Amino acid sequence: MDLKTMRSLDIKGKKVLVRVDFNVPLDDDGRVADDTRIKATLPTIKYLVDQGARVILMSHLGRPKGKVVEKLRLDDVARRLGELLGREIKKVDDCIGSEAAKAVEGLKQGEILLLENLRFHPEEEKNESGFAKELASLAEVYINDAFGTAHRAHASTAGVANYLPAAAGLLMEKEIKVLGSILSDPDHPFLAVLGGAKVSDKIGVLNSLVGKVDAILLGGGMANTFLKAKGSELGDSLVDDDNLDFARKFLDMAAERGVRVELPVDLVTASSGDQDPVQVVDSGSVPSGWRALDIGPRTADLYSQLIKKAKTAFWNGPMGVFEEEQFAHGSEMVARALSEPGLTSIVGGGDSLAVLEKYGLAGQVTHASTGGGASLEFLEGRELPGVAVLMK
Ligand code: ADP
Ligand code: MG
Repeated sequence: MDLKTMRSLDIKGKKVLVRVDFNVPLDDDGRVADDTRIKATLPTIKYLVDQGARVILMSHLGRPKGKVVEKLRLDDVARRLGELLGREIKKVDDCIGSEAAKAVEGLKQGEILLLENLRFHPEEEKNESGFAKELASLAEVYINDAFGTAHRAHASTAGVANYLPAAAGLLMEKEIKVLGSILSDPDHPFLAVLGGAKVSDKIGVLNSLVGKVDAILLGGGMANTFLKAKGSELGDSLVDDDNLDFARKFLDMAAERGVRVELPVDLVTASSGDQDPVQVVDSGSVPSGWRALDIGPRTADLYSQLIKKAKTAFWNGPMGVFEEEQFAHGSEMVARALSEPGLTSIVGGGDSLAVLEKYGLAGQVTHASTGGGASLEFLEGRELPGVAVLMK
């Protein structure tokens, strides 16, 4: 992995264009509701400020689809960033053009400017070369710290690198290093805990990880499809019938390779008439009219034990509908087991991170990846366009 890093570049006093991932959730008043992504890139920004660079930050926010959407301006992001850094953040209302250029010219060493939402311009997502060139014309060096968007070939994540010396920011470097290490030489036993709603979202990562891990623990809606493929009754649970055949073949392939695949032995179920209390049943026998919405307590115990015995664990996808308290236990148990010391634990996925946050465990795992889709694509072994341009 020959990633060009920011420390290898001379950036003293230079105008540095930094792609960050400030695509944060907003509340109803358009204020930053969660600043995790802003915080994740602070080390890079601080480093550049300390080097006396003129820091020009750029990001997308939401899906404005190539038009100016007032609610998706980055002003409140600038305010929050300023609070976190205890410095003034200059902000302009476009990411290219004369106003942006003028603001850049006015920057002194160590000052920070935030450009407007990149996706107000349709050329951003089209990776249009003229637009990439205009962005690049603002600076002398390009740094990409936006791992969360690295799986997209956009003007700000890939195109600009054609016109400027490019390198990875500290967050990007850390993500690639940690995720790369579990693909190249993980400590064994190495296991993957995979859940979430749909099998179809996880086929790539299942196929890739089966060649690396010692065991795969399945939960969430996805496990239903595997259980059904093995002949279980799932009642009215979410089952992806189009992928029953994939599930069968996958289980055979894993068995041939000697990879242990664990499926839930019990399930927490709810009936469609929401008067009935939830019930724990054996995996084979969800009655008609009932839906499996979490792994059962015996499964949660078993998974916790297996995780605690591992040296490396990767987790993506909640074990149940954790958004509802009565179906959160399985995900909580998995999150707690992953937080034990002595285990290298890597977590990817927006909802999986939400589980960690919910129980105050985000700081307890070894690495909580800021890239949901990007981390999965990386682990699938695919080349990420935003990373490819940062290679030596
Ligand atoms: P991540 O964002 O961590 O990658 P996913 O988006 O793949 O995770 O999956 C999270 C979603 O899966 C959650 O909204 C959760 O409610 C849902 N889910 C988990 N288990 C079930 C289940 N048994 N039935 C239906 N939905 C489920
Ligand atoms: Mg999700």
